[in-house]
Amino acid sequence: MSDYDFDLFVIGGGSGGVRAGRVAASMGKRVGVAEEFRFGGTCVIRGCVPKKLLVYASEFPEHFDEAAGFGWSVGEAAFSWPALIAAKDREIARLEGLYRKGLESNRATIFTSRAELIDAHHVRLLSDDRTVSAETILIATGGRPNPHEALPRNHLCISSNEALDLAELPKSIVIEGGGYIAVEFASIFAGLGSKVTLVYRGKEILSRFDADLRAGLHKSLEARGVTILTQTVLEHVHPGHDGLLHAHHSGGASIAADQVMLAVGRLPNTQGLGLDRAGVATDAQGAITVDSFSRTSQANIFAIGDVTNRVQLTPVAIHEAMCFIETAFKDNPVAPDHETIATAVFTRPEIGTVGMSEEQAAKRFGDIDVFRAEFRPMKATLSGSTGKMLMKLIVDSISGKIVGAHVMGPDAGEMAQLLAIPLKMGASKADFDRTMAVHPTAAEELVTMYQPSYRVRGGARV
Ligand code: NDP
Repeated sequence: MSDYDFDLFVIGGGSGGVRAGRVAASMGKRVGVAEEFRFGGTCVIRGCVPKKLLVYASEFPEHFDEAAGFGWSVGEAAFSWPALIAAKDREIARLEGLYRKGLESNRATIFTSRAELIDAHHVRLLSDDRTVSAETILIATGGRPNPHEALPRNHLCISSNEALDLAELPKSIVIEGGGYIAVEFASIFAGLGSKVTLVYRGKEILSRFDADLRAGLHKSLEARGVTILTQTVLEHVHPGHDGLLHAHHSGGASIAADQVMLAVGRLPNTQGLGLDRAGVATDAQGAITVDSFSRTSQANIFAIGDVTNRVQLTPVAIHEAMCFIETAFKDNPVAPDHETIATAVFTRPEIGTVGMSEEQAAKRFGDIDVFRAEFRPMKATLSGSTGKMLMKLIVDSISGKIVGAHVMGPDAGEMAQLLAIPLKMGASKADFDRTMAVHPTAAEELVTMYQPSYRVRGGARV
């Protein structure tokens, strides 16, 4: 046993930190975990989980509308935002308890305190006014919403953190950004009845996604009443005499709304951590730089998750945690694999995607075949819903491998999870073709698109 107080000290009790701490403790390591706020981190406390609960809530008005087509008459519906937020808070508290329990039952020591590095082996616990030593340190402090300092009076705006805990549902909201958070919250608030304006600096929302999905989601959000201003940025915000916030934008106009939300990316949580004192280097964005095994510039200190700004997704942080355990405690160095990560955008319609967009694949391979289907889902035949389902497979025409799969419509996220397996295994279009369909489903379209919708040769559509 080493002379240190702990074999491993984890700073940050989010998805990555808790996983690493729990698994190391289950191996008999002496583990300490410090969290300054609540265990569960962004995902559980103010991200994926509460967001998804709000997504479910936002879908009910459409379910009520659709019910009539199936013979149901639904009485007058009423919605209570405080009831939803209270129910969400209860679920978050339950999950936080499970995170703590997982650590405690494996005999990790929990510190509800901010932790800062004193040097490469010592951590100061501010609330406890105490310093502990550790042989190995893992930094998993995550990220925080970019406060957009360049925007005058940005302090009047909310971020996704506050949006999940507002005292009342805003009647109107302006959201700046065109990424995951901006479009998901636009969809949630629109579903719950708020008047939503999305302000995005680029030509089309969701810049890193396939162009078909971007245009399709844009159209669908507009059809649901969301106003989308592209190639526009907020210039300043000020409180009006009408009790509303006035968001002035580069289009020369001003929008009055109950809330202005900023969703312009997230920044790594590294300020004041004492990284300099411990010899841990950061990049220009303040993210901790790591090698392919998540090791920082200080050999005994590792970093995982959003604080390293590799891929800001919960399952990635958890995967990095498991690789860290192999590397640091099982004498089996494993580098996290960041290739072909499936992802979902929980808007209505939902997006599920894995692999390359058509544009990326055309650039990379030159010659690709695109299989594309756009159709009305079966449920819409009776519900009267006008929303269409979009499915797209991108195939490298030389190898026949599927290099991208994109779905927009109900359950797209669930489909993306399953599509990720064959794509990760290197499945070819021929493998999909000889897979029997499950009928009647929407996903059967993925294995019944026999002829390419079009071909791209030398990077150009033919
Ligand atoms: P994203 O990186 O997805 O989007 C940020 C958006 O803000 C982009 O549209 C970007 O424009 C825009 N932007 C950046 N800087 C400025 C600026 N100075 N002025 C105006 N606009 C600006 O970040 P999010 O904040 O939406 O989400 C953070 C991360 O959290 C995501 O990357 C994602 O990995 C994760 N996440 C995942 C979810 C999921 O899996 N469903 C849900 C929510 C978050 P441009 O496109 O031009 O760069």
